[in-house]
Amino acid sequence: VPFGKNTDASIIGCWGITEPDHGTDTLVPGTPEFSNPEIKGQVSARLDGEEWVIEGQKSAWVSNGTISTHSLVYLNIDPSMGLKGGGICIVPHNLPGVRKGRPLDKMGQRALNQGEIFFDKVRVPKDYMLVDQESYEALLDVTLATANAGMGAIFTGVARAAYEEALNYSKTRIQGGKPLFEHQLIKHKLFNMFMKVEAARALSRSAIVYNLNNTPPLTKYSIASKVFCTNTAFEVASDAIQIFGGIGVSREYPVEKFFRDARAAMIEDGANDSLMITGAHSL
Ligand SMILES: Cc1cc2nc3c(=O)[nH]c(=O)nc-3n(C[C@H](O)[C@H](O)[C@H](O)COP(=O)(O)OP(=O)(O)OC[C@H]3O[C@@H](n4cnc5c(N)ncnc54)[C@H](O)[C@@H]3O)c2cc1C
Repeated sequence: VPFGKNTDASIIGCWGITEPDHGTDTLVPGTPEFSNPEIKGQVSARLDGEEWVIEGQKSAWVSNGTISTHSLVYLNIDPSMGLKGGGICIVPHNLPGVRKGRPLDKMGQRALNQGEIFFDKVRVPKDYMLVDQESYEALLDVTLATANAGMGAIFTGVARAAYEEALNYSKTRIQGGKPLFEHQLIKHKLFNMFMKVEAARALSRSAIVYNLNNTPPLTKYSIASKVFCTNTAFEVASDAIQIFGGIGVSREYPVEKFFRDARAAMIEDGANDSLMITGAHSL
């Protein structure tokens, strides 16, 4: 694999799949829409001798977009196959024709750099195309399975952090002459949060253990984990803010950040509602 021997951490990668006109469209392997030739990708690759010529634009949602040195571009090779006719190509950003946009300003996960990448007839060696149109759909499925499994685990952590912050705060804040924690209403809410965190932990752990160790993966379990755990993080962070009261919406405590980060996660790596439809195809 090109650059596979690099161990000095000089490479910052990014995953370029989303395009200005194609978000959800790009993440539906195994569905009829994915083979629809009417739906054409905005980044194309054409073989010219010993080089691929890459042309088009990835959207402002590419994480690490403006700080990365290389991208793994999910692009279109054979438009007659629809988005299924794709390929996965490494593109070093120091090549002529690569240009980047400005960092995106957004509501949640603000520390995560994101930005557009433009490819203007960028020429890359033939062997930088790691996956061609024959195996693209299967490899996209593996990508979804691993990325979504990771998201489940990460946002279980966000849910847990929100729960623990709320639990600790409830034991120090006095209202009605005793700590919030001593009020039945708050205890009930905290136990509900605890149950959700533990359910998210169990699902995300089994999805990640199975799908990172088996090929082909059972992608619907990763999707279930991603959707459930990011929804859980959002709900638990919202409950945490409620337990904090007014100060919960200030920047004094991290619960408002968890809430914003979890909200972004419900769209990141696939909008939750659409991911569920994709997962349902393999029920
Ligand atoms: C924090 C964050 C990080 C991200 N990181 C990356 C990254 O590293 N690389 C990258 O390439 N992209 C990245 N993305 C982009 C992300 O994958 C897309 O935002 C996501 O796939 C949704 O695409 P979209 O935003 O274009 O929404 P759209 O696809 O336009 O969807 C808008 C709404 O319509 C619904 N919808 C869409 N299609 C259908 C349909 N056929 N039927 C019914 N409803 C539909 C969706 O569920 C959604 O609710 C990131 C996004 C976020 C928020």
